[in-house]
Amino acid sequence: MMKIGVVGLGLIGGSLAIDLRRQGHQLLGVSRRSETCERAIALNIVDQASSDLASLADAEVVFLCPPIGAIIPIATTLIPHLAPNAVLTDVGSVKQPIVEALAPLWPHFVGGHPMAGTAAQGIEAAQADLFAKQPYVLTPTDATSLHAMEVVSQLVRSLHATLYQCQPADHDRAVAWISHLPVMVSASLITACMNEPSDTVRQLAQDIASSGFRDTSRVGGGNPELGTMMAQHNRTALLAALTDFRDTLSHYIHHIEQEDWDTLALNLQQTQRDRPKFLA
Ligand code: NAP
Repeated sequence: MMKIGVVGLGLIGGSLAIDLRRQGHQLLGVSRRSETCERAIALNIVDQASSDLASLADAEVVFLCPPIGAIIPIATTLIPHLAPNAVLTDVGSVKQPIVEALAPLWPHFVGGHPMAGTAAQGIEAAQADLFAKQPYVLTPTDATSLHAMEVVSQLVRSLHATLYQCQPADHDRAVAWISHLPVMVSASLITACMNEPSDTVRQLAQDIASSGFRDTSRVGGGNPELGTMMAQHNRTALLAALTDFRDTLSHYIHHIEQEDWDTLALNLQQTQRDRPKFLA
């Protein structure tokens, strides 16, 4: 059993702590607000908690789980306090900038991204088994120690998550396609509908919208801070995906303008076959 630190006691950090503590590990929490630390102890999520990164001096593994923009500054402050063999990992939804900044600072750092979550946030949203049967991506580099990979892989497997390994840049391009692009496409859909110039038509559309609109607008109507953060931190990969998407949309427009129903139908037959490849 290990001493495991978790920095950022919110949905992801709290949920990790719950599962790892249940396995018998000792959980040392660190969060920004003292109320959150007290709440994490009261809810039995961690064994101890404080706002002081120095409290992780004898942790064997530390998971960095604060908002994405805080990961690099927190790691930079934490590293001088760590024991020489301590393993450091993060859960940020974008990997290349974090791995580029932290890999040179600590040989036992490995980037990670659990592909799990809910719409809720904060310590109250933490839940057991959040990661079970979900993908968990690790992004080691040539500089990552074998020790770090072994320790983090083992812990990820113990959560019953499905482990994937890839380059940080490939991770960021893949999540741009399946997570960040859909938010922007879905948000544009809502914006475009709201820009309908006729009040009568817009009101009618709102009144009769049903399951199709509910599905296609869901991710665009979610947490605005998360969407903005995705765009800021995964800007390059997101812009590449959005540009390809705009070209693809132009092709669809062209088929409809040309009344090329055969090509349109072929495209839609193909998308019907392809969709399950993403959702198996
Ligand atoms: P969250 O519920 O808001 O949790 C983050 C927690 O970090 C907050 O509750 C906050 O607690 C604490 N915090 C904020 N600033 C801090 C600081 N400077 N130092 C220490 N603690 C700080 O957010 P989350 O959804 O768990 O996301 C956390 C990370 O997981 C992000 O990097 C995100 O990219 C990644 N992630 C999220 C999801 C998802 O679906 N939500 C999925 C995979 C990965 P107090 O301020 O109250 O102390």
